[in-house]
Amino acid sequence: MADVVLRDVVKRYGLVEAVRGINLDIPDSSFVALVGPSGCGKSTTLRMIAGLEDISDGEISIGGRVVNDLAPKDRDIAMVFQNYALYPHMTVRENLAFALKQKRVEKQEIRTRVDRAAEALELGPLMDRYPRQLSGGQRQRVAMGRAIVRDPEVYLFDEPLSNLDAKLRVQMRTEIKELHQRMKTTTVYVTHDQIEAMTLADKIVVLRDGHIEQAGEPLELYDQPANLFVAEFIGSPSMNLFPGTIEADGFRTSDGLLLATPAGKAPAGTRAVYGIRPEHISLQADAIPSTIQVIEPTGAEIQIICKIGNQPVTVVVRERIKAKPGEMIGLAPDLDKVHLFDEASGKRL
Ligand code: ADP
Ligand code: MG
Repeated sequence: MADVVLRDVVKRYGLVEAVRGINLDIPDSSFVALVGPSGCGKSTTLRMIAGLEDISDGEISIGGRVVNDLAPKDRDIAMVFQNYALYPHMTVRENLAFALKQKRVEKQEIRTRVDRAAEALELGPLMDRYPRQLSGGQRQRVAMGRAIVRDPEVYLFDEPLSNLDAKLRVQMRTEIKELHQRMKTTTVYVTHDQIEAMTLADKIVVLRDGHIEQAGEPLELYDQPANLFVAEFIGSPSMNLFPGTIEADGFRTSDGLLLATPAGKAPAGTRAVYGIRPEHISLQADAIPSTIQVIEPTGAEIQIICKIGNQPVTVVVRERIKAKPGEMIGLAPDLDKVHLFDEASGKRL
């Protein structure tokens, strides 16, 4: 097994800087997710680790060895893509064995490794089928099997579940997590889906425009987002955000509402953004009056979209409520869970 280290890694395409000096430590045996909106540089970063893209500047090492000039096949990595191309004219067993045959691994050894991967992914009953005889999820499992048989130092995943339907995605997510808990192979996992990142990773790296906004444990990012971008990106439904000004006795929204805040975060007069997550607002008759717009029950909980003045607010509650759209309710944000951000820099106060 091996760690992966990125030092001031830059990728330029002509004049465009797709990756702008990334520093990242991916410890041995860890599961790190790179997450961020489309075009932020996730795939480019992963492909540089894989050796599929040259590095314009900086250094990447795997297991203590600088790999800048090493061909992909010499890096001891295995990559799984969103568009897993299986060989259509080969059975599942042949697909799994193919890379090992190419490497002239001994026949008995191939058999052992293929059987072990098949067992890990429960592919046993499918071994003699062709890709066209498999469901999308089964195909993706074979694609993962092809990575596993190579027994690499590092797995690289690029949105491997994006083509699957919602239910299968959740199921495969659990399988990938189980597999990592069992094998403990260092994994770098790219996704645009923050929930996938939250549920899978030990460490999440939020990227934007080719640089790191924040890196940390999932709940660290959730509880202490370093800036407005991370605050909005992590969490679903998103954090409620109100622009306004810090005053001596609280936070004045641009609508003129005075909200209680933890004291001493910034001097009065500071332009700021007040943030509160939907589940950190409770319903209390005598609290901030707001009008219910839409009620969305999901079963386990209820999402209430309401308005304070002109500002939409999402609230998530676990109790059943009787109120209907158009009616008034009182919203009570939990003071301990209030986030404040500097408006100009976006940084956490
Ligand atoms: P992500 O995977 O996060 O969606 P990418 O890493 O694919 O983003 O792309 C990052 C940026 O680099 C984007 O602006 C994209 O347009 C640009 N880019 C990616 N590949 C190339 C390329 N081969 N040539 C020019 N620009 C590219
Ligand atoms: Mg991508």
